[in-house]
Amino acid sequence: MSSDPGRGLLLVVSSPSGAGKTTLCNRLRDEFPRLEFSVSHTTRPPRPGETNGVEYYFTPKEEFQEMVARDEFAEYAMVHGNMYGTLASRVRDSIENGRDLLFDIDYQGGRELRSKFRDDLVSVFILPPSIRELERRLRSRNTDSEEVIARRVRVAREELKHYAEYDFLVMNDDIERAYDALRSVYLAHLHHRTRQADLAEAVISGQESLL
Ligand code: 5GP
Repeated sequence: MSSDPGRGLLLVVSSPSGAGKTTLCNRLRDEFPRLEFSVSHTTRPPRPGETNGVEYYFTPKEEFQEMVARDEFAEYAMVHGNMYGTLASRVRDSIENGRDLLFDIDYQGGRELRSKFRDDLVSVFILPPSIRELERRLRSRNTDSEEVIARRVRVAREELKHYAEYDFLVMNDDIERAYDALRSVYLAHLHHRTRQADLAEAVISGQESLL
């Protein structure tokens, strides 16, 4: 971890779709307002109820390609046939201004961010209890066709194989337990010695009231 206490922490959460990652991330954002969500750009069309700039910046393919050409993304990847990307400027701003940033991105993006921002990043992979349960959850969402669900289950098997690239694994067989584990990872990293060194120094020098 970085030894600069003023730096923002990057929390990367990945999982196959249907493992409950979005629910877990939303709860974390509700509990910790200082944790900002990294809104990705995507070429996929919005689903009902999604708003441009909230879940994603919905971006036409040509524009997305132009942004790639201008090197604006810290990472981008093809996921389920659409392009998704994270703005490099947003990541750098957050780190430099001490703002924690939550990423809901796939393993390809996780890998790329880890290689670029290793010292400021912690990563969590959410595991579904089983493939069968994952399929059931995808179906109960009622947002995707059978064909899309079948493809997502196939992709999920492949995605799960990347668990070993992550710092922490959380199985979502029980949402309360899974949430407890996820928030513990975040809290533990906020309290890492390297992030709290200035607090200790202030206590030692009697300047704690200035913090
Ligand atoms: P959905 O279209 O269902 O919202 O997301 C599909 C997948 O794309 C999810 O696994 C999500 O984590 C991933 N994803 C979302 N934004 C990004 C991004 O900026 N980069 C990468 N690599 N993956 C992303």
